[in-house]
Amino acid sequence: MTATERVGLSGCYILGPEVQKFESSLREFCHSEYVVGCGNGMDAIEIALRALGIKAGDHVLTSPLSAFATALAVIRAGGEPVYCDVDKHGLINPDLVQACLEKNPKIRFVLPVHLYGNMADMHSLRKITEGFGTILIEDAAQAIGASRAGTKVGALSRIACYSFYPTKNLGAIGDSGAITTAEAELDQSARAIRDYGQTEKYVHSVLGLNSRLDEMHAAILHDAFLPRLKDWTARRRAIAGRFLREIRNPDVTLMPGPDVEGGVWHLFPVLVAAEQRIAFMDHLKSYSVQAGQHYPTLIPDQAAMLSRVQTPMIFGELAVARELVRREVSLPIHPFMTAAEVDRVIAAVEDWKV
Ligand SMILES: *Cc1c(COP(=O)(O)O)cnc(C)c1O
Repeated sequence: MTATERVGLSGCYILGPEVQKFESSLREFCHSEYVVGCGNGMDAIEIALRALGIKAGDHVLTSPLSAFATALAVIRAGGEPVYCDVDKHGLINPDLVQACLEKNPKIRFVLPVHLYGNMADMHSLRKITEGFGTILIEDAAQAIGASRAGTKVGALSRIACYSFYPTKNLGAIGDSGAITTAEAELDQSARAIRDYGQTEKYVHSVLGLNSRLDEMHAAILHDAFLPRLKDWTARRRAIAGRFLREIRNPDVTLMPGPDVEGGVWHLFPVLVAAEQRIAFMDHLKSYSVQAGQHYPTLIPDQAAMLSRVQTPMIFGELAVARELVRREVSLPIHPFMTAAEVDRVIAAVEDWKV
């Protein structure tokens, strides 16, 4: 029986045996003790913060260059995002994290984002946060299976958060997400929080969310998608390898991550001159190459953040993040690209003249 037939006939559609099976296969894939499936990646971050005891007004240091969901989850959990600048890879800068923690004792959490499929410098962040007694968690929505200098995503923090939004490296046919942790207590607590805070049927020990994982998503992820993730990642790496070797245009700057082999190439970002970006994207379009921008606006510059009573708390100038926001273009990369499509992307980039 296929996953859809199995679930359809089972009469159990939410948080049942298929979710357990998927959680256990993901545990193996992520080399993690515990996995808790949930509704989406944004909820995964909120659940992580709540399981770790975030209190109203706690400051959470994170990256301004990410999906809006990263900071929105912090606010939904009752925290206040604090932003510091990134390095040239778009990953939170550990030196600035250190400086920010020295200056702001209200920061209780540090939440790096593994942007574009590249891991932030978790070794430095772990050392720094240990020194301050600050809790480290990871937004790994773009980086399932990534590593950096031999260290895997999730290995050095209390909780790592994943999204299975359809465009992610492991994408469901709808919304879903998960957290991973090595701690039994956090596993138990996250399980309660995803389901109204229930520790037993009709026993509500904390105020939770409704962020349950559907059986259908879990069954399809388990049967059809997770078993292919290793091959898909290999394909992304092969395509990225071709882009890195064959794109030679001096007006297009490549952005290889800090560990090219360990990255999982959720995106393939390049940089062009800020005033040329629209023209470059139009040029690509004329070759039927659909490029993207990740991201065109920093999170603290978004209207929803500026209109809050609490104005965004920014440490320093965010100069690097602002430059990336003005210059970044994401070339198409996904495991189903044909060799001809990869050729076309390279040809289009090579034919670009300022
Ligand atoms: C996609 C994404 C999220 C949010 O995940 P959803 O499943 O869409 O809620 C959070 N952080 C980053 C970096 C993401 O790319």
